[in-house]
Amino acid sequence: MASPKSAAFSVSAVRYLPRDPVIAVKILFASSEAAPLIKTGGLADVAGSLPRTLHDQGDDVRLVLPAYPGVLKQVSSATLVAELQVPAHGGPVRVLTAQAKVLPLPLYLIEAPGLFDRPGNPYVGEDGNDYPDNAQRFAAFCHAIVALALGQADSWRPDVVHCNDWQTGLVPALLSKEWQRPATVFTIHNLAYQGQFDRATFDALQLPADLWSPDGLEFYGQFAFIKGGVAFADMINTVSPTYAAEICRPELGYGLDGLLRYRSDRLVGILNGIDNQVWDPAGDSHLPAHYDGTDLTGKTKCKAALQTRLGLPNAPNSVLFGHIGRLVPQKGVDLIIDILPTLMAQPGTQLVVLGSGDANLEAALRTATREYPDRVAAHIGYDEGLAHLMEAGSDVFLMPSRFEPCGLNQMYSLRYGTVPVVHKTGGLADTVVDASSRALLDGSATGFVFDHPDSDGLWWAVDRALELRRRPSVWWEKLVRSCMRQDNGWHVSAERYRELYRFALDNPAAAPIPEIHKKP
Ligand code: ADP
Repeated sequence: MASPKSAAFSVSAVRYLPRDPVIAVKILFASSEAAPLIKTGGLADVAGSLPRTLHDQGDDVRLVLPAYPGVLKQVSSATLVAELQVPAHGGPVRVLTAQAKVLPLPLYLIEAPGLFDRPGNPYVGEDGNDYPDNAQRFAAFCHAIVALALGQADSWRPDVVHCNDWQTGLVPALLSKEWQRPATVFTIHNLAYQGQFDRATFDALQLPADLWSPDGLEFYGQFAFIKGGVAFADMINTVSPTYAAEICRPELGYGLDGLLRYRSDRLVGILNGIDNQVWDPAGDSHLPAHYDGTDLTGKTKCKAALQTRLGLPNAPNSVLFGHIGRLVPQKGVDLIIDILPTLMAQPGTQLVVLGSGDANLEAALRTATREYPDRVAAHIGYDEGLAHLMEAGSDVFLMPSRFEPCGLNQMYSLRYGTVPVVHKTGGLADTVVDASSRALLDGSATGFVFDHPDSDGLWWAVDRALELRRRPSVWWEKLVRSCMRQDNGWHVSAERYRELYRFALDNPAAAPIPEIHKKP
């Protein structure tokens, strides 16, 4: 990989983007999931709330999603606008427009018989494995997005196509071959998921042959959808400034750090926002009682309701720790299991966990609930309502992620006055201020931050939280109120994205020069 180019602005320097009055741009927002229509993780939260915020603020933004059955059930007036033939897919690919009460902005849905009409998780079959034809499925999705981007499927033609994660990664690569194309922005929500497939799949997809190159999609003998975004988009961003810097280093670059350093003049970090309407302790429909920073009585009722719901004894004075997330090594739930004996040795501690994923981690959690039936409860599965109740009812939220591009749960915790304990990485480092004595005194503290993602590091932070709980309650209440004052709503970051769109429009990237042309 070539050495880094001189940087027009650094990876964390989104503040240097031009702040001219923003001209209205038309944005096509492309994602494989968007809450509340279809959700497996944080990407859905962002794809549901960022375009809606832009739309509510007057931008001409449309969202394109695959037409999964669960999505079709929630929309009205789905109308066929185009029937496309895309490479390597036998049947037609249909572009529908639709409206959804739960996600009020213009929607395009991509229907492709045999590809998206499967219930349940959008990427994984009932056997728990990735669908074997995911490359075909999301290549077809990308071709449909390209058709929309070029105005070939509908009369509306966007100025910017905003792609998200590997499922839309081919779009910037395919559009780079067009003379008259919209600007492209590619957001990396998690670099660990790359959409890697083999050479035979590349051939079967009938992608342009020159994309099989180290400067194109080729990736250590395979090819990766995500490289289409990283190598070809006009602008690339990740979901926090710290993660933008971290992925430029080998430890978290997953083999793409060289390319990201090379493109660092086009890489920025923009912190995700949260949907302040959906996640609002003062009006959350999933909660039995409401509260805000001026009156926390409702939080105590939520704690009791959470204990009852998960079969724990009502113990108003316990220190109730919570964790929600995909049970994968990234999230560090194994560290929580490691410190459990020490945590349970402290009087009055309880732990509740909500998540699903790795079978060994699920089994370890079930064992813990049997070992400490009155102190530990785990709900293995996915439950949106319970997630809200846990954010409200817990006292402390554990987020020991080994890496975390942005993380949403720590921001939900802040809003719900549930003090986060986080590893200093990615968006966790950018959103939580450690409760040092000075920060506690000046009111800037919002949680407990530890440096080393191991059980000692986690315990060090948890122990400090317990120590603060033992002090007169005014200290803890002061911390809770500081958490609740932090505003992580989308309004700030939506403005950063507008700047990013403008910058991408004004600064089209030249396609990387294929190796063959570089030789004398
Ligand atoms: P990631 O995208 O890596 O999964 P984030 O913290 O960015 O992590 O976002 C996770 C989102 O998914 C949050 O809204 C979280 O509440 C939700 N979530 C994760 N697991 C579950 C679960 N088992 N039940 C309900 N919500 C969940």
